[in-house]
Amino acid sequence: MSTAVVLFTQDLRLHDNPALHAARTGADRVLPLFVLDPAVDRADFAPPNRRAFLADALADLDRSLRAAGSRLVLRHGDTAEQTARAAAECDATTVHTAAGVSAFATRRETALRRALGDRLHLHDGLTVVPAGAVTPAGRDHYAVFTPYLHAWQQAHRRPLLPAPRTLATPDHPHGDPLPTAPAGTSPALPPGGERAARRRLRAWDADDYDRLHDDLAADATSRLSPYLHFGCLSAAELAHRAATRGGPGADALVRQLAWRDFHHQVLAARPAAAHTDYRPRGTRWHHDDQELQAWREGRTGYPVVDAGMRQLAHEGWMHNRARLITASFLTKTLRHDWRPGAAHFLHLLVDGDLANNQLNWQWIAGTGNDTRPNRVLNPLRQAERYDPDGSYVRRWLPELAHLPGRTVHQPWTHDGPLDYPDPLIPPDALTARIHATG
Ligand SMILES: Cc1cc2nc3c(=O)[nH]c(=O)nc-3n(C[C@H](O)[C@H](O)[C@H](O)COP(=O)(O)OP(=O)(O)OC[C@H]3O[C@@H](n4cnc5c(N)ncnc54)[C@H](O)[C@@H]3O)c2cc1C
Repeated sequence: MSTAVVLFTQDLRLHDNPALHAARTGADRVLPLFVLDPAVDRADFAPPNRRAFLADALADLDRSLRAAGSRLVLRHGDTAEQTARAAAECDATTVHTAAGVSAFATRRETALRRALGDRLHLHDGLTVVPAGAVTPAGRDHYAVFTPYLHAWQQAHRRPLLPAPRTLATPDHPHGDPLPTAPAGTSPALPPGGERAARRRLRAWDADDYDRLHDDLAADATSRLSPYLHFGCLSAAELAHRAATRGGPGADALVRQLAWRDFHHQVLAARPAAAHTDYRPRGTRWHHDDQELQAWREGRTGYPVVDAGMRQLAHEGWMHNRARLITASFLTKTLRHDWRPGAAHFLHLLVDGDLANNQLNWQWIAGTGNDTRPNRVLNPLRQAERYDPDGSYVRRWLPELAHLPGRTVHQPWTHDGPLDYPDPLIPPDALTARIHATG
């Protein structure tokens, strides 16, 4: 009887899982393993919101494995050590796991290789097109999105893989209890796990996505990002379903998945871009702890900015348009370094993802892959365009809900007392600070 280990990392699903599929087709028995590694905590990758989502996702994975006659074995400790130990205990001849793109994932893969030698098999399953699979002539990655998109659209796609119906597992692998959700999470987190992902996938209608994805109050985006981040849903499957469905909504969604792949291939080639400027421009950032704290708490006095920050605190998620507006306000209007902003997002976002978060922040800050690095989003114009009747602001700032019409975006024009801060930057100075507007 041959045995394989499948080490789950950011691929917490049974459907379309290349590492699981290879383990199952290559051996008689499969040990499904997840290692809770303290190095993840030390790297600050597991704040409460994502830890809660992970706890759900692991419980869900265990339930699905049990339904197939197996179960999830969880160990605490160093990933390479624990994986080598588990492999030795069940005489596994192969270990299958998903390849990552961050410096952290690369270090983990190097340690696994050292411990397991050629028993280790890495599989691409994180993105639609694996990082590095398409490159421009003479370069190791694309620095600009549009040419990347053209190459991405032509790139080879692997076939989708079915979820195993049955999975034979070695008899007595010892496992630690699965984790539970920690205290201190945002009050309205989405449920984690593959079943929740597939429920959301079935319930969400992509048809209006192209028309409504920027409308803050419509909340018409898929909200699949945390499931993609934890691999509860395969990006390749989502892209395939959208391409099969067709139409402007589905096409627009596929384009966003290309953005996700784009940032992953940048990070894979330039892991330091998680912390250092991708394109240093010698920017002299402004430091002001009080301003930074007001931004974090949603007290800048600019309602559309504050609404986004309050949504983030409450849901551990923020609408993409609000991410753009709040990040631009911090880096371009207040001229703060992108790193503290990105760190705050990473701390709260349930979809917090090194590639997507850091490189979107750099894009906004003008140190990344934007071909117009001086682009600035004027929060007042953005509010008028993407929250024209103020519904989004009223939803997140109840203290302004009674203000009529557009006054809700400019509370300083309201006569009478308000329990809401004055703008951090006077509105007339705002326009002077903004050279280009979006
Ligand atoms: C400053 C800033 C920080 C961000 N941080 C993150 C992050 O930590 N994690 C994260 O997953 N996304 C991040 N994004 C990208 C984007 O905002 C989210 O992916 C999106 O809002 C998630 O909601 P959704 O699933 O409803 O997206 P949808 O609009 O339904 O899009 C579908 C999927 O496409 C991908 N996607 C969409 N837009 C982008 C984008 N601009 N870049 C990369 N992938 C994209 C996501 O995986 C998303 O789930 C950030 C964007 C900005 C501007």
